Amino acid sequence: MTQELEGKVGLVTGGTSGIGRETAVLFAKARAKVVVAGRREQEGQETVGLIRAAGGDGLFMKTDVSKASEVEALIQKAVDKFGRLDIAFNNAGIEGVWVPILKQSEEDWDRTIDINLKGVWLCLKYEIRQMLKQGGGGAIVNMASITGLVGGAGAAAYSASKHGVIGLTKSAALETARSKIRINAVCPAVVETSMGERLFSAPAVHKYVLSCHPMGRFGRPTEIAEAVVWMCSDRASFMTGQSLVLDGGFLAGQNSPS
Ligand code: NAD
Repeated sequence: MTQELEGKVGLVTGGTSGIGRETAVLFAKARAKVVVAGRREQEGQETVGLIRAAGGDGLFMKTDVSKASEVEALIQKAVDKFGRLDIAFNNAGIEGVWVPILKQSEEDWDRTIDINLKGVWLCLKYEIRQMLKQGGGGAIVNMASITGLVGGAGAAAYSASKHGVIGLTKSAALETARSKIRINAVCPAVVETSMGERLFSAPAVHKYVLSCHPMGRFGRPTEIAEAVVWMCSDRASFMTGQSLVLDGGFLAGQNSPS
């Protein structure tokens, strides 16, 4: 890892575990200062501990990304502490309850959309506002999923939220392109995190879902984090409005479990 984010201030939502935590630490290794946001104080402080152990500087801010006032306060905190905001990974998300539409409650639909889609919109709103205040420039990556590109029977709310993130990413990228703010998304297949474990650990499900990954394994959080760091770096300077698929070949082999 080089020093490609030297001098930059970064934000990671959902940085208390999984892909978010891994990316926060990788941001720090690339020399960015890192603001970690999430709902769980202890896990958030643990991520900051990992950032410091990697020689970096960071802080945790307890934040629910579905609440406008909390997201606004989060960006303000980043600016108060580190003076600016240059890069952001809007990663926080939940799987919700995976059931057929007829069994899905309105409460679960609302919660999934509020966190996964409205949460990304709120983060974009206050991040872009801050970047424009600084005179423009910046890079933002939104967390989508391969279920943002294809449907999933029994995962309608989750899939709809992630399809929404991709539309939001394209529209936001168009609005900010002239201000030199690049906005992209990542679309992983199954990644080995607590969410992956919750959804796919039942033996029959695990076996089938694994067979849909031509590489014969799930992704690792660090493999997603590496891509996010690159997308946030100046090395990705001509990339905006895109959704980068990181799936071990899943979509290339769709409908043909191997
Ligand atoms: P995870 O459960 O470890 O991470 C999700 C993080 O988001 C947690 O830290 C959680 O506390 C946080 N979070 C949830 N609701 C929040 C809220 N309202 N406000 C702030 N933080 C909140 O699992 P993960 O796999 O690392 O998930 C990270 C992202 O990756 C999610 O958006 C998920 O949808 C997406 N994703 C995961 C996979 C996978 O297979 N693991 C695949 C594709 C996409």
